[in-house]
Amino acid sequence: MKIFAAFAPLLCLISGCAEDTLGTTREDTFEEYLASVPRERSTGRYIVDWDVVVTTEEEVRRIWRQSSSGALSILSFEGEDIKWPPQMQRQLSYCVSDTFGARKPAVVEAMRAATTLGWAKHANLRFIYDPAQDATCDELNEAVVFDVRPVSDGQYLARAFFPGYPREYCNILIDDAAFEQDRFLLENIMLHEVGHALGFRHEHIARPGQSDPLCVEDEYYRVVESYDPLSTMHYPSCGSPSNTLALSALDRSGVAVVYGPPPPPVAPYASVTQPIDGSVVGLSFDVVASIIDDDLDSVTLLVDGEVVPPRPGADYAFAVTTTPGEHALELVVTDTAGLEDRVALRVTARPLVPAEDDGADDETDDGNDGAVIDPIDDGGCGVSGRPSSLLVMLAACALLGRSRRRGRDRRSAAPNKTGSHRA
Ligand SMILES: [Zn+2]
Repeated sequence: MKIFAAFAPLLCLISGCAEDTLGTTREDTFEEYLASVPRERSTGRYIVDWDVVVTTEEEVRRIWRQSSSGALSILSFEGEDIKWPPQMQRQLSYCVSDTFGARKPAVVEAMRAATTLGWAKHANLRFIYDPAQDATCDELNEAVVFDVRPVSDGQYLARAFFPGYPREYCNILIDDAAFEQDRFLLENIMLHEVGHALGFRHEHIARPGQSDPLCVEDEYYRVVESYDPLSTMHYPSCGSPSNTLALSALDRSGVAVVYGPPPPPVAPYASVTQPIDGSVVGLSFDVVASIIDDDLDSVTLLVDGEVVPPRPGADYAFAVTTTPGEHALELVVTDTAGLEDRVALRVTARPLVPAEDDGADDETDDGNDGAVIDPIDDGGCGVSGRPSSLLVMLAACALLGRSRRRGRDRRSAAPNKTGSHRA
């Protein structure tokens, strides 16, 4: 039985580089096979199937030795699919390196489109973007499952990895070339690479009658769906010239076959921890929210119906400046499924006049510290005075109260997209 492996970077898609094509057969010795595998210039790692990094020589030997029969196609060795185990498939955290510089926002959006709004929308998968790791987003960062970093090797547009690789090899590297071409949307390139990270092979390896040596790879795959020339995993240059690398209908159904269908959507749960409903505030005050949700899409604060932008760098905090009098605040939270939660409260704004402070930290001090004044009798949860040290207690009381009021009908919130910023 012949096994072919074709290697060429994704860059070949737009530039054409048949001379990069390497092939082998099962009759090759391992040494011959290994010699045919290109290596990443910057790291020395092996690149197989055009744009997938292989960790070690031992892994290359495993690919050489093993096979299975085989479109959405998943990497498979000896009848066992290579995919994320159940305990990991909803914990796929990643960072996006700050070293992308001005390109970083585009990468963050492209990754979000490829993960939460892409593959994960159609299967029991959850990707978690952890921006707190972006400053140290590299192969050594154990706080995330994989890192997304820039490279400038010129060998490919981007490359990924397969599930089960050691942490140091779990990275999606995006070459400068990906930003300097206009044939593919960045988010579609990321869909393709994230597809590899989920275990999916190039679709064209399962194309009936595939004979182009540039497009023949190996047999380490299992067919999940029927051959799909529109799959994001199918190179246009391998028999689907109009393909855009977008997620196809069969990609969506195929990923659900492998990882199970997406769980029923759960509406987000939002609370406002500051200020307190009914409180008196200064003319400038902060609104701070607490939100529980797996797939948050947007958080919007409306003051008297007008959108207030979030504080820079803070998703759930807003700085409000308003006029004296009573004001209506509404927090609107939506998730990617279109489910929403709303929290409404009223506050009275008035200038905070410096008080004759006797130095005591009395409970009625509304002095010039900008703190929220809380005159509320809340039936057991009430506290007054400086709230900063008591916010947790207040929030807990608010949560309990809201839980009692809302009961079970929270999950039936009607879809309503009103977001104003990405969370
Ligand atoms: Zn690929």
